[in-house]
Amino acid sequence: MPISDSFEQAIEFAKTALQGMTANSVPPTPENFMVWYTHVAGRNPNLSHMLSILTDNNQEITNTISEDIYNRFFVSAATVEDDALHATAERINEELRRIMDYIGEAGDGVSQYGETLSTAKSDLSSANEQVGLKEVIARVLNETQKMEIINNKLEQKLNDSNSEVNQLREDLEDMRKEALTDSLTGISNRKMFDMELRNAARDAMEKGEDLSLMMIDIDYFKKFNDTHGHQVGDEVLKLLANTLNKTVKGSDIAARYGGEEFAVILPTTNLDGAYSVGEAIRTRISTKKLVNRQTNTDLGKITVSVGISQFKYGEKLTDLIRRADQALYSAKNLGRNRVISQMDMEKDALSFD
Ligand code: GH3
Ligand code: MG
Ligand code: MG
Repeated sequence: MPISDSFEQAIEFAKTALQGMTANSVPPTPENFMVWYTHVAGRNPNLSHMLSILTDNNQEITNTISEDIYNRFFVSAATVEDDALHATAERINEELRRIMDYIGEAGDGVSQYGETLSTAKSDLSSANEQVGLKEVIARVLNETQKMEIINNKLEQKLNDSNSEVNQLREDLEDMRKEALTDSLTGISNRKMFDMELRNAARDAMEKGEDLSLMMIDIDYFKKFNDTHGHQVGDEVLKLLANTLNKTVKGSDIAARYGGEEFAVILPTTNLDGAYSVGEAIRTRISTKKLVNRQTNTDLGKITVSVGISQFKYGEKLTDLIRRADQALYSAKNLGRNRVISQMDMEKDALSFD
């Protein structure tokens, strides 16, 4: 984004930016300066909106938040670290180079054909005997046939390349999905969860919307595994992931956080809304009778405990996760098979004695 303010104007913006940074204890690094200059110059309403939400809420603009804002608005698409992705991208490039070569070859053929036609044109205007005329026409026909062959070959090569590129594109998409999916349950893995939570928090700040987080942990799962075996336990994890997928809607994201713990990101949802979703999940699971279809054995029921927290603009995501974890811990302590939100805990923190 080239900046083309007049000298006076730029000085004015720079001063205001520096004042803003000082007032908010933001160190004036080149990256931070870029953010604040853009803000005071009014060049990016979304960036300004995000900053004003933070400052209006008296949120400390930590280095992590500054870095996040800079990356979001000034760093283009995420860098791809995966070697496999690089290799596939390189293969696509190679394929494109090959296509360019074919087109180059065909281009040579076309210009040769063009020359033949223009020579034929002048020969035709001067040829008045039938013999001469026949000869010119034969030459043109001959060149046309050659051109047709070149065209057919090119079409074939382009078709081949097209399917190769499509295949590579599918491979790339599969690799991307695989890297972000939990192999046992097929839902988002921890890596995807981290990415999605970061995005959801930024969106919430940018739009001034609510965002809640839910942590779900299976009750007494160790005992279940000990009784029925790890493999049956794995099937329960799959079933739970399926139930989560069916219960959450729209922009909600269910992920396997680790082991027998799951998380759901709930954009545009406050604690009350998240509580209802948590209750729906908890009820759905606790009322299901588990049956091993292969052996036709009744496995009883499983229950889950759920902890919920709501995002405070500008807070560290680890704090948001910690509050959901604390609520989950409290749900366990209160007897399991229940949903506890950070609000219940805040209520409990106050007493008259
Ligand atoms: P709590 O109600 O306190 O959560 O009790 P718990 O037994 O569920 O908790 P604990 O943390 O003691 O044990 C978690 C168990 O989850 C232990 C482990 O066997 C099981 N588990 C974790 N990951 C997997 C998995 O991928 N497959 C299976 N089958 N079990 C798992
Ligand atoms: Mg557990
Ligand atoms: Mg656990």
